[in-house]
Amino acid sequence: TPLSHIRNFSIVAHIDHGKSTLADRLIQSTHTVADRDMKEQMLDAMDIERERGITIKANTVRIDYVADNGEAYVLNLIDTPGHVDFAYEVSRSMRAVEGSLLVVDSTQGVEAQTLANVYQAIDADHEIVPILNKIDLPAADCDRVAEQIEDVIGIDASGAIRVSAKTGIGIHETLEAIVHHLPAPKGDENADLKAMLVDSWYDSYLGVIVLVRIIDGRLKKGERIKFLSNGTVHHVDRIGVFRPQMQVIDSLGPGEIGFLTASIKQVRDTRVGDTVTHDKKTVQALPGFKPAQPVVFCGLFPVDSSEFEDLRDAIDKLALNDASFSFEMETSAALGFGFRCGFLGLLHLEVIRDRIEREYDIELITTAPSVVYRIFMRDGSMQELHNPADMPDLSVVDHLEEPRIKATILVPDDYLGDVLKLCQDRRGVQLDLTYAGSRAMVVYDLPLNEVVFDFYDRLKSVTKGYASFDYQMTGYQTDNLVKMSVLVNDEPVDALSMMVHRDRAETRGRAMVEKLKDLIPRHMFKIPIQAAIGGKVIARETLSAMRKDVTAKCYGGDATRKRKLLDKQKAGKKKMRQFGKVDIPQEAFISALKMD
Ligand code: GDP
Ligand code: MG
Repeated sequence: TPLSHIRNFSIVAHIDHGKSTLADRLIQSTHTVADRDMKEQMLDAMDIERERGITIKANTVRIDYVADNGEAYVLNLIDTPGHVDFAYEVSRSMRAVEGSLLVVDSTQGVEAQTLANVYQAIDADHEIVPILNKIDLPAADCDRVAEQIEDVIGIDASGAIRVSAKTGIGIHETLEAIVHHLPAPKGDENADLKAMLVDSWYDSYLGVIVLVRIIDGRLKKGERIKFLSNGTVHHVDRIGVFRPQMQVIDSLGPGEIGFLTASIKQVRDTRVGDTVTHDKKTVQALPGFKPAQPVVFCGLFPVDSSEFEDLRDAIDKLALNDASFSFEMETSAALGFGFRCGFLGLLHLEVIRDRIEREYDIELITTAPSVVYRIFMRDGSMQELHNPADMPDLSVVDHLEEPRIKATILVPDDYLGDVLKLCQDRRGVQLDLTYAGSRAMVVYDLPLNEVVFDFYDRLKSVTKGYASFDYQMTGYQTDNLVKMSVLVNDEPVDALSMMVHRDRAETRGRAMVEKLKDLIPRHMFKIPIQAAIGGKVIARETLSAMRKDVTAKCYGGDATRKRKLLDKQKAGKKKMRQFGKVDIPQEAFISALKMD
């Protein structure tokens, strides 16, 4: 295909605004997939994605389209993740295409992720085609939303295409707009090969599959290629495109997007953003991409300690396919052997944890998520703290720094007060407050550690689901941070220790011991539960001793009821771990940290 007849684009949208449905309609209306093979959400491959309705890995599809002018075009769509944890994946796939469809739900309007994603597209110099989706719904208000796009984002939305991805209205217009409003890629077929590594993932049959965008030159099967970042050379055994199933072809030329396989064993060997060229050639590397850095760490331990090796196996396999997930072995006095794992955010953590539990059938204890602190020592050195349990003695510490974020929240007026209070309670500093119609846009500088536990849940609950939220890391700042330990029956439980701001320690400690008192079942003896900073107890509760057998309360006869209660107790037991003489249920480790 000549460059002039290629269009490469992505779709940017807030979650649930209809990106996947629109992609389905584009695929279907161009007969890329036969009607009988059409499934909903063609591009959302993983089960978890389908269940939660989110797209995690970027996916891609090549569409053939004969436009109204009679010419045949090749359209390459790269689908990008919509969630804030995966902002880095969005930014890298954006660099591989020249344009974006901006999808906004015409019943909802611009949301926080609309903004975050469209700014990424603007950063990548994209031409942008605005689309108002869901016009089949009675609540659609296209004029208002078009105006909002102009006010808030500052792009011309007068020609926005009115679409129902559900019924197919406006799909033809969208295809024509892709052809006529988005630019063709540039590139030189006769120059040395230069390709961008857009994404890579592990396939158990083919090894690592590498998604590339050819900038210059041509890549053919059987050639030897080199990754510039590490100089490794590989023999290309397969080249192809996604329709969205894999289809093998002979070569990829400038402007094209496709995949290669080259018997590569690990995703780790393929750095996203890397430049690919032929062996023995030297080309200028593409402007550097930073590798994704984990920002949230937590411990994963098997409930049943005999499953440690299975857990290691599961984590190894998951890491093969996810270069942004990091791990190292960890031993905890209370929990035994496990792993300290690093994630891009809380959703990423949940996805990995779910997959271990479901696909590998290993029950897990997840310890308190922690951000990465910087400890500046008296001797002038600096070290990173990934685990509060590793906090060195205060006598050698000069000061601590914690990561901060810039959070953007869009919320209807009515809930603004609650949102401001929540941000204030979480040590936030207000940076900006503006209005777009009846919605307020608030920008806050917040400590990441106040956001990782349950900020998003709280935000949803105080705004009845009407707020949208997005954030980016901004840097580190020093503050008065201390390690709070939790003692159950006078034994410190390392897995519950956490870093907190000194001013918030009492409130946090109090909430935590109260929660634990409810979460830990009674034993035959009294159990003190305490929160402490250094040697100083800041909050304390006592769980009184059990008086009677649980079955005592079903007087006499009902044997099935009694059996049920006992079974329930047994099932509960299974999920507990023993700390000294005390059983603590698995759920306590996460629940104790949530603040109401
Ligand atoms: P994504 O999160 O942006 O990928 O959104 P989805 O494509 O998964 O769509 C979210 C929800 O909106 C799904 O339940 C879709 O069926 C629904 N939806 C998408 N487009 C339309 C539309 O044009 N009209 C209506 N009524 N519903 C739509
Ligand atoms: Mg989707």
